Order: sequence, then structure tokens, then C-alpha cells
Amino acid sequence: MKDSFGRTIDYMRVSITDRCNLRCRYCMPEDIDLVPMSQILSMEEFAQAAKAAAALGICHIKLTGGEPLIRKGLDLLIRLLKSTPGIEKVTLTTNGILLREKLESLMEAGLDAVNISLDTTDPEKYRQITGRDGVSEVLAALDQVCKKGLPVKINAVSVRQEKRDIQALVNLAKDRPVDVRFIEMMPIGNGKDFPAMSNPEIFEILKGLYPGLKEDKSQHGFGPASYYTLPGYEGSIGFISAIHGKFCKGCNRVRLTSQGYLKTCLCYENGTDLRRILRSDLPEEEIQRQLILAIQDAVEHKPREHCFESAEAVTEAATMNAIGG
Ligand code: SAM
Ligand code: SF4
Repeated sequence: MKDSFGRTIDYMRVSITDRCNLRCRYCMPEDIDLVPMSQILSMEEFAQAAKAAAALGICHIKLTGGEPLIRKGLDLLIRLLKSTPGIEKVTLTTNGILLREKLESLMEAGLDAVNISLDTTDPEKYRQITGRDGVSEVLAALDQVCKKGLPVKINAVSVRQEKRDIQALVNLAKDRPVDVRFIEMMPIGNGKDFPAMSNPEIFEILKGLYPGLKEDKSQHGFGPASYYTLPGYEGSIGFISAIHGKFCKGCNRVRLTSQGYLKTCLCYENGTDLRRILRSDLPEEEIQRQLILAIQDAVEHKPREHCFESAEAVTEAATMNAIGG
């Protein structure tokens, strides 16, 4: 489906829960108010919304959260999505804490790839950022995923990592077929005030550390990352630079929150409430028809670009755990 600026929209991120087993300080305050479960869509409701989106051309779904692995029934949702006409890829983004124990069932359900969020490999710094321990478990999960041959990327938010932390993250791509991507902090929720580096700053540090860094023009997925290779490294290094490399012209996505609100841009509240339609008393066919119309209308009104460079213009008040990143 096309939006009013001619962009093809074929990717939907679906946040299946606002809950999480970590408390990354830029994402989710410790004492956050959680949404009552009754307001969160069931797996069947997510699948129904995805079916309507797929009828309009959404072919890639990324499951996110909160932490998607803490929600029961994730395998069922993956199965439902994988059997939906038009949906080609179902992928997941996770903090990796529960990944090892769930990996087999997720792969059996048909999961196509996984992103693991990891900002540092230093246990103490990990605890400072996430509020919990867990680095060794996340690294064990990464190795297990590689062993099983599931495509995997590491996402590291560009908090103020020191040189040695950056080196340790890059090192994960040395002997593993893993893309390590640095993501610029976005001024959403606590991200507004969190000490962070810009991706150009990270890039300068990397160039100093690795003079062999070379631009890689090959396609690595569906997203806006730019990639670089390093001689002797199996994986690549990527940059997702929402602020310093504004990629809105090529934006291909919408976001469905755990409460069934279809968001058309991270920056603004614009969108449409699909839960109201999903929970109406209408017959199933009419629900599908109305979902399709509502999604189409929301996409037609998708904003041209985000406004992160002027944080005061951001109208989105939700925290990132509720939006799904
Ligand atoms: N819990 C899962 C995880 O951490 O991958 C999925 C949800 S999390 C909200 C998705 C991604 O958003 C993570 O990579 C996280 O680091 C990122 N994120 C959270 N807040 C952010 C912010 N303010 N700016 C940029 N990325 C952010
Ligand atoms: Fe949880 Fe992911 Fe947010 Fe961290 S970034 S608090 S792991 S939802």
C-alpha cells in the first residue's frame, strides 16, 4: 500500500505487551503504570488486525514489546501470522533474557529472524542501564541462535559507550554472522534526557579503531540501517540514525501498539484505534472490512517526517515499551 507521499508501506511492528522483565532507563521507568490486561489485544485479535494489514500489502511483521518473550502464546501468534496470506516474514525483537529457553518453540512456529537488544557486554554497565543482571544469559542466547542458524542482529542504543564497550560490541561480529547495529537514542519517554552519543560520534570512534571499515551497499533487511564491513569479520556493523541520518523519505512502516492503536509515525500520536473495531459486535467479515478501511485511512494520513530534531514538537506521550520501538 502507498501513503500520500508515494512511500510503500509493507512493514508493521506489533507490540504484544507493554510489560518487560528489564527496566532500561531510557525506555521504561521502574514504577511505570501498566495497562490492564483486558485492554491489551489477545493473540487472535493481533492476528485479525494483521490479516487486514496483509490484505493491504503488509508482508513483514516484527513482534516487539515491552518484552515479547514474557507473553504466553507467542508461538501461537507466530503460527497464525505465518499462515496469513500475504505475510512473508515474521521476526522478533527481544532483550534476549528468555530467548534460550524459548528458541526451539519459536523456530518450530516459523520465526524467520531475531534482533537482540544489547547496549553493553559489561555486566555492571548492563545492570546500570537495564536495572537487572543478564549479560551472560543474553550472550549465551546469541550463541544458541547462531548455532541454530536463525538470522540474528544485535541492536545497541548509542548510550555513552566507552571505546572499550564499543569494541566489545563490534567484536560480537568477528566470528559470528551477526550484524551489530548502533541505534541513535530517540527523544521518546525517558530517552529525551538520557545521556547518549550521536551515531556520527560513534562512527568517528569506530573509524579510529578500525581503519579497514568499508561501506557495504548490500541489502541486509527491511530497515533503514546503513552498513559497513570489516576485514576478517563475519558480520557487519550497522547504523540506524533516526536523528543524524533522517530516513523518513524511505519509511516503510506502521506500528500496532499492544492496545490495538495503529500508529503511523513514532513522533506523533496520529493513527487509528483498531481495538474499537476488533471488539465491536459486528460479523467477522464486516470487522475485516472496517479494519481495512481504517488502516488505509490512517496510512493516507501518515506524516511526511518525524520531528525528533525539535523535541518540543513531539506529540507522542507514550513510553517506548508501550510503542514497541
Ligand atoms: N524488549 C524488546 C527489546 O528490548 O528488544 C523489544 C521492545 S524495545 C522498546 C525495542 C527497541 O527499542 C530496543 O532495541 C530498545 O533498545 C529500543 N529503544 C527503547 N527506547 C528507545 C529510545 N528512546 N531511542 C531509541 N531506541 C529505543
Ligand atoms: Fe524492556 Fe526492551 Fe524497553 Fe529494555 S528496551 S525496558 S528490554 S522493552
